[in-house]
Formats: sequence, structure tokens, C-alpha cells
Amino acid sequence: MSRDINNKYWDEELETLPREELEKRQLADLQEIVKFAYDNAPYYKRSFDEAGVKPEDIKTLKDIQKFPFINKTTQRDTQGVGSFLGELAAVPEEDVVFISTSSGSTGVPTMSPFTKKDFDEFQDTESRWFWQIGMRPNDRYVHALNFSLYVGGPDVIGAQNLGALCIWGGTLPSERLLFVLKTYKPTVIWTSPSYAWQLGEKALKSGIDPKKDLNIKKIIVAGELGGSIEATRKAIEDIWGAEVYDFYGLSDIFGACAAMCEAKDGLHIAENHILVETVDLHTGEVLEPGQVGELVFTTLRKHARPLIRFRTGDIGRIDTTKCSCGRTHGRIHILGRKDDMFIVSAVNVFPSDIEAVVREHKGITGEYLIRIFEKDFTNKYAVEIEKSADNPKSDDEVAAEVSAALKARIGVKPARVVVHPDGGLNTRSEHKSKRVIDERNLDYNI
Ligand SMILES: [Zn+2]
Repeated sequence: MSRDINNKYWDEELETLPREELEKRQLADLQEIVKFAYDNAPYYKRSFDEAGVKPEDIKTLKDIQKFPFINKTTQRDTQGVGSFLGELAAVPEEDVVFISTSSGSTGVPTMSPFTKKDFDEFQDTESRWFWQIGMRPNDRYVHALNFSLYVGGPDVIGAQNLGALCIWGGTLPSERLLFVLKTYKPTVIWTSPSYAWQLGEKALKSGIDPKKDLNIKKIIVAGELGGSIEATRKAIEDIWGAEVYDFYGLSDIFGACAAMCEAKDGLHIAENHILVETVDLHTGEVLEPGQVGELVFTTLRKHARPLIRFRTGDIGRIDTTKCSCGRTHGRIHILGRKDDMFIVSAVNVFPSDIEAVVREHKGITGEYLIRIFEKDFTNKYAVEIEKSADNPKSDDEVAAEVSAALKARIGVKPARVVVHPDGGLNTRSEHKSKRVIDERNLDYNI
């Protein structure tokens, strides 16, 4: 199939469907998948019966609200039960062609199975995101994501299906990756935001100027929140002289379920695959579009293991107004993980707010570490930063400035700001960086 490379859409009809039409399609798919799940996945049969709901109850999209939630724990408790794939799976193992698993960073890894059709539709969605950020068949693309078990690994097939020249970088050591960038001159790369930044710094330190000596025009980032924080995006863009786009994936669904367009105002989510709800964190009550809450996803077309009302643990909001790019699929704005949010003096604090301040502030390197602890029975937070080598100000002055900037953005001052010399924080890592240390349980034990 030959495509018009000047068309900004991968699938124009789908991407620009009037919402009414899009919702009509969602409803038809929802009715089908809920019935399929009920008829084929032992868990759904049991839980729908217990809740007194039937697939036929779905007459409008809102009727999904009558159905029970599931979460990571549901996945853990049902996997391997009754069959290898477990009680949430709705197809026999012989229909499954691929499984990915979560990193297990918050418990036992959970696996996500795909049928051949699930997998092909997953890759078509990935092609659509790549096309959306401007990737075309004449691009050279380095996929610098982990291939082992990780659902982001196979996304490279989406770029290949689009026609780009693909280099399966994986998690190469940075010297080797810089060699690839220098030698093959790729134009697009996908990695994590912290690694994109560190790789740029490493290049500079080894005498390579990414702007002059390399040819990267677009950087896709995912896996951490940085790509949705403008200051972080700008910091990466400044080093590379390239555009940065944030993608959002879930090991339970697709390598990328949502992606930025050129407007960079939230991430378009594939609403033909995912029905999005936002619910109150504590009560589970459904909120209106635009309100901030926990994102709850229902997969509309994945048959191997349908997810009906899956609580993602991600806090955000959805904007269903038409984007300036012309796409009608809603845009999600992610604020952070429910598990990462902490409360100080009745204010919800997300590590991403702290990152935004630290990355914007002049005279510090942008590296940071957050400590959350308890003192006098209240939560406190402390921030550790690095002063740039060429900053003439004293540590006390820098600490006072950053403390004031944090208070201005978040509303509550940190208990302290600790200033380290350039390179003094051990937060630079090859992949996801650990930047939040929760010391609260520790305090209890002492
Ligand atoms: Zn857009």
C-alpha cells in the first residue's frame, strides 16, 4: 500500500471521526467485548453474576458504570488459576501469539497476552503514533527500549510497518548507542526521558555535539513522566536540537496507548481501543471529562484478555474537545501515579511538580532526589539537588531560591533543600531513575 506522505494522518477517517460516530463505534465494540468476556473468561462470569449485571445491560457507554472494577491485584490473583493464562483470559492458549509482562516494580509481574489480531491492531496503533509525530518511510529509527518481556519492545514493528528503516537498539550501553547514532545517523529515537537527557550529556562530555554531529530530529520518550513536563522536554530539546514527544503505555494494554501530536497539549489516546473513565480516587465515583481522578480503562478490542474497568493507578484527566491538529480522539493529561502522590499539609503533591521546578531553575543541573518522611505525625518532603559547576552562588542561596520556587508552584515548602555539587547525586541511571525515597515506614519502625 502506498500512502501519501504529505497526509498528516495515518488513518484519516478513524483519527478525525466526529465524536458521535466514534462513540457509536465504541458502543458496538463495548457490547461485543463485554459479552465475549462474560462468555469466555471465568473471572468475568463470576464477578458480573455477583454484581448482578449482564452484558445485555450495556445500552449506552455510560452503562459500563454498573460493572465492577478490576485492578493489578485482580490480575495477580487470577493469573495461572485454572489455566496458564488464568481466569481473566478469554481465549485458549493456542490462540495466543505473544505475552509481555510488567516490570514487577510494584509486586509480582503480571502477564499480558495477545492474539494475532490483538497484536496486529497493537502495531497498527503504534504506526499511527509514529506517523502522528511525523515519522515517514524515509526516516531512520533507533528503538532504544528494552526488548525483554517488555510491551514497549515490539513497538518497533509499528515503525517498520510504516516503512521506516529500523535499528533495534534495545538497551545498548551508551557508548555503543552513541556509536550507532554517529555512524548510522538516525533521525528518530525512542528512549526514557531521563536517559535521553543523560545520553545527551554523555555525548557532550565525550566531544560529540548532538546538534552538530548527530542527526536526531525527533525524540520519543515514555516510561516516566518527564515527557509531559514542559521544562523537562525543553531541557532535552536544548541538548539535542530535536523535538521531544511523550508517549504513554501500559504493560497491560499496548506499548503506547496514547501519544502527543504537534500541539503537545496532552496525549491523544486510541479511543477506538480504549474506553476512558475518570473516577474519584477514594470513592470510585465517576467524574466528568476534565476532572482529575484515577484513569480507568476498558479495552474494547483485545480478545486474549479483555480488561473491563481496569483501574490504572494513574492520576489524570481527559479532554474530549477537538485538538488543533484535527484529531477527535480525546487527550489524556497524566499527573502521576497514585502510589507516588503524597499529601503535605492537605495538598496533593506529585513528584512531577517538583521535577518541573527543578528542571526550570537556572544554576542547578536538573538532577534531583525527593525524600518523603514523617515528623511530629505530619508528612514532610525534602529535595536534594545539584548546583551547576559554574554557579557562583553559595549553597544556602541556591537552597533558599529553590525552596521558594517549590513553595510557589506546589503551595507547601519543603522541610529542606540539600545542595550537592555537580554530579554529587547518584541519580543518573541508564533507564528509569529512582528519584523518590519514601522514608515514612522507616520512621515508624524506629
Ligand atoms: Zn492533536
